[in-house]
Amino acid sequence: MRYGLLFLLAGALAASEVVREADAKALSAMVSFLASDVLEGRDTPSMGLKVASEYIASEFRAVGLKTSFQEAKLRVRRVERKGFAVSLTDGQRSLSLPVENAMWTAGPKLDLAGVTVGRAKLDAMPEKVEPVMVLEGPMGPGLRGAVEKLAGGGAKVIVLVGIAMPVPAQAVEFEDQPQTGYVMLRTTNAEAEAMLKAGVELKANVHIEEAGVTVEAARNVIGVLEGSDEKLKSEYVLLTAHYDHLGMRPNDAGDRVYNGANDNASGVASIIESARLLAGLKVAPKRSVMFVAFFGEERGLLGSRYFVRNPVAPLWQMVANLNLEQTGRTDSSEGPNVGQVNLTGYHFTTIHRHMEAAGEATGLKVVKHERFSDAYFMASDNAALAAVGVPSTTLSVTYAFPDYHQKGDEWEKIDYANMAKVTRGIAQGTYLAAEAAERVSWNEAEDKTKVYREAAAKLVQ
Ligand SMILES: [Zn+2]
Repeated sequence: MRYGLLFLLAGALAASEVVREADAKALSAMVSFLASDVLEGRDTPSMGLKVASEYIASEFRAVGLKTSFQEAKLRVRRVERKGFAVSLTDGQRSLSLPVENAMWTAGPKLDLAGVTVGRAKLDAMPEKVEPVMVLEGPMGPGLRGAVEKLAGGGAKVIVLVGIAMPVPAQAVEFEDQPQTGYVMLRTTNAEAEAMLKAGVELKANVHIEEAGVTVEAARNVIGVLEGSDEKLKSEYVLLTAHYDHLGMRPNDAGDRVYNGANDNASGVASIIESARLLAGLKVAPKRSVMFVAFFGEERGLLGSRYFVRNPVAPLWQMVANLNLEQTGRTDSSEGPNVGQVNLTGYHFTTIHRHMEAAGEATGLKVVKHERFSDAYFMASDNAALAAVGVPSTTLSVTYAFPDYHQKGDEWEKIDYANMAKVTRGIAQGTYLAAEAAERVSWNEAEDKTKVYREAAAKLVQ
């Protein structure tokens, strides 16, 4: 009887092995390097990003992971500012747009003389599309669709008026993506803006040089901790985080670096520390755990999309994806978020059950943000995995925070004691998902998962 009880106890303990505490100092060391000014904001592609990828790989090796790079070729198109000449005339007077007040997107060479300027609004598309179209704001969710519609109708220049969004001078794409045949243009010149807004009939002359094209490379960093079960080790739980950020803005005065400490050096440090915790267990979880640091999230989920297009193991064997974002700061724009972690698409998959059990074992609250949980499901790299059917979620401490996508997102502002607690809970949740007899699955009772379940069904061999 007593022996039997002991045996049962031992069995129960082994099944619920709990990872040790995470090291707050190690986390701050990793974040302070990745988010340092020297890495120049880790733009995709850039030397700073390359250095970051080497650093992450060396940390994976130190932990004992089987480490590799997955390199993608990217087409980079940069706006050629020389030769820019755009003028407007209303029949009475003409105005040349000063190049220093103009920003436009990378596109083809344009030479248009005396063409009619058409007008559109986000919710009011015109019958006839002209070569130059003014698209009037205010900014709204329909912008992308409106731009595509105008371009599809033959517009070569789409002038944004009253839509104060940044217009990137550089496009980063996969080589097989079609190149855009138009440019989006914005001017901050008050006189020109007034003329564009006035509603009078305008003609335009446009000369814009073709954007310069180079082919460059960026890398996903992959580290594998092999599972302990002969059969299940061919399945992988993915613990991922993007390591890129927004780079630099050369025209800014003073500090020019977008450091991206919370977004997302923190997530990367959390996966490295989780790797150390899981590799340090007496017995590895049954399934393998694959740690991936993605490039290019800020440029449109490029790294994760490349990863699912060129999977290093069959996608069917990737049983779950826990993706990390913003695990460092607790000063959410909605108030402090201490001792807790959020999941996107909380009830979309069974991942939340493993995280809830992990939270109980490590003293971490696992919460569903009622407004953002489902709404943000497609906003980070887990979306690329979900789109091909892999059950996924993004875990974070905060959604919006004061320095989000600003130069002030620096490493000193992170709460490392809290980050250690969160990292431990996530490592434990990853362990449970990799150890469980049952695979993580999509929630069939949730209508919003239908498209992902259909994608998953196609993966079954
Ligand atoms: Zn991010």
